[in-house]
This record gives sequence, structure tokens and C-alpha cells, in this order.
Amino acid sequence: MRAAIVGGGIIGLSIAAELLRRGADVTVYDPAPDGTDGAWHVAAGMLAPGGESVFEVPQLERLLEASGELWPAFAAGLGEVGYDSAGTLGVALTADDVTEMAREWKHQKLAPLTGSQVRDLAPALSPRIRAGAYAPTERQVDPRRVVGALRAALDGRTEKRFVSAVSELEAEVVVVAAGCGTAALTGLPIRPVKGQVLRLRGEPGLLRHVIDGAADGRHVYLVPRADGEVVVGATQEERTDRTPTAGGVHDLLRAALDLVPGLAEHELAEVSVGHRPGTPDNAPILGTLRDNVIVAAGHHRNGILLAPITARLIADLVLTGETDPIIDAFTPGRFGCA
Ligand SMILES: Cc1cc2nc3c(=O)[nH]c(=O)nc-3n(C[C@H](O)[C@H](O)[C@H](O)COP(=O)(O)OP(=O)(O)OC[C@H]3O[C@@H](n4cnc5c(N)ncnc54)[C@H](O)[C@@H]3O)c2cc1C
Repeated sequence: MRAAIVGGGIIGLSIAAELLRRGADVTVYDPAPDGTDGAWHVAAGMLAPGGESVFEVPQLERLLEASGELWPAFAAGLGEVGYDSAGTLGVALTADDVTEMAREWKHQKLAPLTGSQVRDLAPALSPRIRAGAYAPTERQVDPRRVVGALRAALDGRTEKRFVSAVSELEAEVVVVAAGCGTAALTGLPIRPVKGQVLRLRGEPGLLRHVIDGAADGRHVYLVPRADGEVVVGATQEERTDRTPTAGGVHDLLRAALDLVPGLAEHELAEVSVGHRPGTPDNAPILGTLRDNVIVAAGHHRNGILLAPITARLIADLVLTGETDPIIDAFTPGRFGCA
């Protein structure tokens, strides 16, 4: 089987690596394969099936959970990619923040903690925090390391090329996994949703858990890596530009420092902007578009979490024409395009 994959982001590379593992001949096309172009390069790497699913349809919730279960083995197969299962602490600063966060915690069936209970778990948190909850199954990974490991596994099977039309490619099957670039190639309704993210750097050990919090109405997450980096994210804006803004950075920093005052001593090491590939119903588009053209795109806020299950489902489809019925809710046909 000769398969061409359009897009060398986390989704295209995960599919390509799975196809290669199962014996297919794959080539990945991407103009920026080392790239800072994809959303993966900006993404924090939260693997949060519950925390991200509160407003989503049940089928997406099941897909997120199923992919979360695949992550330990997926990460183990890639080597050292920063997969960390310390879990996530949800926290709320004001009474209004408690009301907002409590909806999420209730949905996830998490036991509420008092401010002092949550600070026992994470002493760097502000004494002003009123309430929290611990989510042991909400984990994290470093997407930059994941993409590095996937590229190494593909060992030269990536070609630096922008694909303008699927018909350019000679292959038995073409998989379009081009993130936001998928719309131009397929006509599918995928739009860029801008996100600004900060990377702070300091002494390791200030935080052990991912912090997912609300501070005076500002929602923020803090993802601490073992080397002392803390990723602070993210804005969510219906914009296509790549400009970091004073307002975006201010909101993120203010919320981060309100929750963890000790971060004030960290270096502001990076400000970056990426675009989530969003769809009208926030769910990915997975399945056959037309003869020999398969789509795996539109993963919006959850593309890192959804990489293992997407790779498995799409590799099944490419190699056998069939896959688990869990995919049925995500076909391109729901937008009248297949
Ligand atoms: C601020 C932010 C924070 C995020 N945080 C998280 C998180 O914590 N957890 C999580 O699960 N997800 C998160 N995400 C979402 C996640 O990053 C995306 O869903 C995921 O990266 C989508 O993967 P992808 O491979 O489809 O697209 P991308 O990662 O965007 O990669 C697409 C690739 O396709 C290439 N391409 C585009 N057009 C063409 C073309 N015509 N020809 C060839 N190549 C092309 C691009 O160069 C790019 O390399 C976040 C996203 C953002 C922006």
C-alpha cells in the first residue's frame, strides 16, 4: 500500500508512523516539516478528556476518553516525550470562579476540595484560592518532543512540499491531515481559531501538577515540565493573524500570577501564536471524503489528546477500508461533503 499524507503536524505524523509500523509505504508532505507552522508547536499538551469535554457532544467525549486510554502505550512507544501522569488540579480564585469551575468538576464527578486542601497538594498556589478539585486522569505530554520522536520514527519519509491539490499526488490513498490547511484542499468547514501561549522558565519543582484554573473570570492553564518550563495558555480568538497582543499576554500573565505568585520570578521565555483547526461542532472530521481520499483534520482544542486514536482509526481505514464504529459520528458527510 502506497499512502501519501498531506500535513506533517501531529496528526499526519501519527497516522504515517502507524501505517509504517503496519508495513505500508508512506510519504508525508509538508512545506515546514520541522515546523513552527502547525498548531502542535504551540500546544501545551494537556491530555484532558474530562476537562475539555464539558460542553461537547457525548460521541466526542467518548472519543476523547478512548484516546486518553491509548496514551500510555503510545507514549511508551515513542520514548521520552514528557508524558506525565501527576494529574491536574482545578482551582478557583473568587466566588464567581468557584461557580464556573464547579460545573466542570461536577461533570467530571470530582470531589471538591477547600482552598487549604488544594494548597496541601500544591503549596505554590496562592492563599487566595477558595476551592479546587483533583483530576488524576488529566495528564500531559510535550507535543514538541512527540513530533520530534514521530519524525525520527519516519526516518526520512517526509518531503518538504506544499500540496496545492490532492490530485498532484501519486498514491493509492491520500490522507489529508493538514490542520487548518485542510479547508483549502477539501472544501470542508475548518477554520483557524487563534491561541496565544506563553512559556515561562525557572527552577524546576515549583509545580508538580497541571493547574487548570479560573482567576477573576480569566480561564488559564499552567503546564509544568520537568525541566522548569511552565506553559501558560491560552487565549481563544476567532482571528487568523499571528500577532501576539499586549491584551492577550496581559490576561494570561495576570491569571497565572494570581494563581501562582511565585511565577513572577520566572523568565518570560517565549510568546507564541497558533491556530486550532476548528469545526462547526468542535469535533474532528475523520473518514473517507471520496475515492482514495481520506480526511483526518479539525481536531480543534484536542489534537494532541486525539493523536493516538486518530492514527489507529485512519490506519485501519487506509489498510482495510473498515474501522471501529466509534468513527461514525465524525465523517465528512455530516457537513454534506462526502
Ligand atoms: C494555543 C493552542 C493550545 C493547544 N493546546 C492543546 C492541548 O493542550 N491539548 C491538545 O490535545 N490539543 C491542544 N491544541 C490543539 C492541537 O494543537 C491541534 O488540534 C493539533 O495540533 C492539530 O494537529 P494537526 O496535525 O491536524 O494540525 P497542525 O498541528 O496544525 O499541523 C498541520 C500541518 O499541515 C501542514 N500543511 C497545511 N497545509 C498544507 C498543505 N497544503 N500541504 C502540505 N502541508 C500542509 C502545516 O504546515 C502543518 O505542519 C492546542 C492548539 C493551540 C493553537
